[in-house]
Formats: sequence, structure tokens, C-alpha cells
Amino acid sequence: RAKEQGRNNYQLYTHSMNMRSMERLQMENDMRRALADEQFILHYQPQVNVTTGEVIGMEALLRWKHPERGMIPPGRFIPVAEENGMIVPIGKWVLYQACKQNKEWQDLGYAKVPVSVNLSTRQFVQQNLPEQVAEVLRETGLEPRYLELELTESMTLDVEYTVKTLVQLKQLGIQISIDDFGTGYSSLSYLKKFPIHKLKIDRSFVRDIMDDPNDAAIVATIIAMARHLKLQVIAEGVETVEQLHYLRENHCHEVQGYYFSEPIPKDKAESFFSNWNEVAAGLHL
Ligand code: C2E
Ligand code: MG
Ligand code: MG
Ligand code: MG
Repeated sequence: RAKEQGRNNYQLYTHSMNMRSMERLQMENDMRRALADEQFILHYQPQVNVTTGEVIGMEALLRWKHPERGMIPPGRFIPVAEENGMIVPIGKWVLYQACKQNKEWQDLGYAKVPVSVNLSTRQFVQQNLPEQVAEVLRETGLEPRYLELELTESMTLDVEYTVKTLVQLKQLGIQISIDDFGTGYSSLSYLKKFPIHKLKIDRSFVRDIMDDPNDAAIVATIIAMARHLKLQVIAEGVETVEQLHYLRENHCHEVQGYYFSEPIPKDKAESFFSNWNEVAAGLHL
């Protein structure tokens, strides 16, 4: 029975070390088809400056609308795509799609704010990544300053390569942020070596701010450190007004989280832009 369920639901297997190779192969085939059949879509989560009350960005988050298995969240298939290499073409599609959508929104008169795109390690280590990014910007006509790439600390192990690549990306005029900051193991000394713009405080620290003094201290420390290093800082996973107030008191003005909006599809993102001022007025910012 478990086997049968497993066949119908490979979500169970992606998390286990010994997901059978047949099922991985099946998933890989499904992924190839998914790209061709446009089963991938992007949702967007707004980022807000709580002091100015402005929307300051949108993070693109990938979803897979599988014809039989329904909506599959990224945590279920991206690890497999990273392993089998499919993340490279999928990631290219994400980058292109996010830039194209952002340009379209700007042309339609919605707020001009950057779009953030998550990169995986496999993408980051591609020698021609900066050229790829430049090409996507050219093709979509998006100004570089409206693209932000999110990296994680685990990608930056090869310091020399990281610095070289980040310098090239920065020269394109795009923004770079470190996602899930605080959960990796990179040395703090790299922060001054890497030409990055922003730290994203990981959701796991924000979650327990109000209950766990250690997490509250970590968050306050990351914010202070970012300020001293002249980096921008944004908190992920803000769900309550109490978290919001704590962050503000500690001089973190940029936030992202369910308190404002979950990641939403294109049409809802458009209504979000349109209704934001009214919504903001009711949010006790
Ligand atoms: P991430 O980049 O750290 O994205 C934030 C995740 O936290 C998203 O999950 C988002 O839905 C969730 N989140 C945002 N606000 C809240 C909140 O207030 N409370 C809670 N509980 N959760 C919140 P999602 O969309 O499932 O994405 C998970 C991860 O998958 C992302 O983490 C990112 O690492 C990865 N991912 C998503 N899209 C892509 C992509 O296009 N390419 C790559 N390489 N990775 C992606
Ligand atoms: Mg992210
Ligand atoms: Mg992440
Ligand atoms: Mg994150």
C-alpha cells in the first residue's frame, strides 16, 4: 500500500535519501515535459518598507502545476532538480519569466520595483552566468537595477570564484542579496569581500522573536551588523504585528511575510499593487 501511495505521490520520496531511481527518473521526465508544457508558474511575494509604507519589491517563487499531482511546492522538487541538473533550464526559465513579467508590469504602469529571483548552486557555478543574465536583461528589455538575485551562503564556498562572479554580476548593474542569512556557515569576514547589497534574515529567526530571547538577539545583531557594513537588510517570514514592531524598533524597515501577503499569482499581484495603499492604511504600520 505504501508503495502504491508512493507511486501516486512522489512528494513522499523526494525527502528520503533512497528515493528509488525509477521514481527519480519519472520525476525528471515529468520535469522535462513540465518545461515544454508550461506547467511551471511563478508566484510573487511583495516586499514592503514599513516606514515609508511602500512596496519595494516582489520575490518570484516557483510552483509546479502538475497535471496529475496538483500544485507541487518548490521544496518538493527543487532538490531533485538540483541533483539531476534540470534546475539549470528551469532556473533559466524562471529568470526570463520574472524579468519579462516585471518589465510588463512597469509598462502597464504598476509600481516600478525590483523582482528578486532565487538562484541555485548549480546555476551559480555556471561559468557563463553573468552572460546569461545580461542576455535575459537584453531580451526582456528590463533595466538591470530592477533585477535582484538571491544567493545562499552555501553557494559561496569557493571564495575566489564567488568574488569574481559577484563582481561581474554587480557590473551588470543588478542587485545581489544573501537569502536565509544566518543559517549557513559562511565566515562573516566574507561579507566585506563580497560585493552584495542586502541580507535577508532567515524566517526561522523571525518566527520566534517574541518567544525566544536568543532569536531576538540574533535578529537585532544581524540588523546592526548590516547597518555597520552598509548593507540593506530585510526580514523574511513576518506574520504578526508584534514581529513587525520588534523589527522596526531595531531599525529593520524592510519586511516580507504572510502579514502582508503570501506569494500570489500574477493577477493577484496586480490587484495587490492596485489596492496596496488602502490595505496599508489598515495594517497599523
Ligand atoms: P526562500 O527563497 O527563502 O523563500 C521564502 C519562502 O518562505 C517561500 O516558500 C515563501 O512562501 C515562504 N514564506 C514567505 N513568507 C512567509 C511567512 O510569513 N510564513 C511562512 N511560514 N512562510 C513564509 P516557498 O515558495 O515554498 O519556497 C521555498 C524555497 O524554495 C525558497 O525559499 C527558495 O529557496 C526555493 N525556491 C523557490 N523558488 C525558487 C526558484 O525559482 N529557484 C530556486 N533555485 N529556488 C527557489
Ligand atoms: Mg528567496
Ligand atoms: Mg532560500
Ligand atoms: Mg529565505
